[in-house]
Amino acid sequence: MKTGMSGKTGKVEKAGKVEKAGENGREHSRKTQARCLYAGRCGGCSGETDYEAYLQMKQKALIRSFSRFGRVEPILPMEDPHFYRHKVHAVFGRGPKGRLICGTYRAGTHRIIPIESCFIEDELSRRLVLFIRDLAEAFRLEPYDEDTGRGFLRHVQIRKGYATGEVLVTLVAASPVFPSGKAFVRLLTEQFPSVASVVLNINSRRTSLVLGEKEKVLYGSGSIRDRLCGLTYRISSRSFYQVNPAQTEKLYRLAVSLAGLTGRETVLDTYCGIGTIGMTAASAARQVIGVELNGDAVRDARANVKTNGLHNVDIVGGDAGAFMQEQALRGRAPDVVFMDPPRSGSTPVFLEALTAMAPPTVVYISCGPESLVRDLTYLTGHGYAVKRLCPVDMFPFTEHVEMVVLLSRRKA
Ligand code: SAH
Repeated sequence: MKTGMSGKTGKVEKAGKVEKAGENGREHSRKTQARCLYAGRCGGCSGETDYEAYLQMKQKALIRSFSRFGRVEPILPMEDPHFYRHKVHAVFGRGPKGRLICGTYRAGTHRIIPIESCFIEDELSRRLVLFIRDLAEAFRLEPYDEDTGRGFLRHVQIRKGYATGEVLVTLVAASPVFPSGKAFVRLLTEQFPSVASVVLNINSRRTSLVLGEKEKVLYGSGSIRDRLCGLTYRISSRSFYQVNPAQTEKLYRLAVSLAGLTGRETVLDTYCGIGTIGMTAASAARQVIGVELNGDAVRDARANVKTNGLHNVDIVGGDAGAFMQEQALRGRAPDVVFMDPPRSGSTPVFLEALTAMAPPTVVYISCGPESLVRDLTYLTGHGYAVKRLCPVDMFPFTEHVEMVVLLSRRKA
């Protein structure tokens, strides 16, 4: 696993004059061996460069946590585990010499480490972040100061479609008034034609959450499109979308194949985000209902159902636990339930309603090993048997693990 990381970025001399920047900026050399320059400080990855060793470590950790439920299958690796993150984030601040810097918080602190290059992030997205930093400096945009609550620019989030290459830039600012915003966006989109949308997200609160509730579209439709498993998706800045699309295709195909669909099933896709898992399953099912709490994701999911011409998928907005309770009260009996909750896992209300409805098959997709152990303990104590434990490496070189678990209702 050799990784080169010579950080090359665009340079802005003054607003309107841009040098050596843009989409055709030099790629990092992949030939030279290099350690992560920020190892031990950034916390975004382990700094390790031996992928095989890393996979083995993950496998061992998974076996320790999950062998009580059955055999943990070998983790599904990534063919090329570099530059895989299609969502890149950076926070803005002032460096020691008063320069505008952007990067990541030093692990466990609120001190910013300026990041120039990263071997797990999409390279174009990182170049864009650095270009935006230089542009912001040229436009004299004040970085937000957490202590005083003054300043304008807080974060930038880049999302890049995997199949389409379309880029969504979300600038997070403390105020909706963006000085010279039009010129800024014009320079940005001229230099990076793959930027399809630019959104100003307004976050004026003293919070560690990156995104605020309000947004203003500065350019494009406010979202991007991507294609996964043959379907097209619209993704907006506040909707959840997996950060590693190459592995996501494997994850979804695996999850759907474990469900063993025949075309006759009623399927629930709970915690459905923009509808991806349910829509991937739809051609092999009779009916799919997705449920999701985040309003933007619900809108994206509904648009996605339409765009893909799927007539057997409905999206319900609301809390998944309340939805399951209601389904159980109405005596509904789904055949398959996909559940893909946030890291904190599911809730007692959800799990009780699930076991009351007793679908023959549950496919649990989890990025939170601790909550997964807790929820599997509940489900195996309430009529379910774990049939398959399939880890997928969604986050190479980090400690994060993703697991797909097939559960079947035990015969009474
Ligand atoms: N299945 C999707 C999203 C998984 S992430 C995918 O593969 O992309 C988890 C999702 O659960 C997020 O979209 C989040 O907004 C949603 N969520 C969080 N709490 C929820 C709740 N109580 N009820 C329903 N959805 C919830």
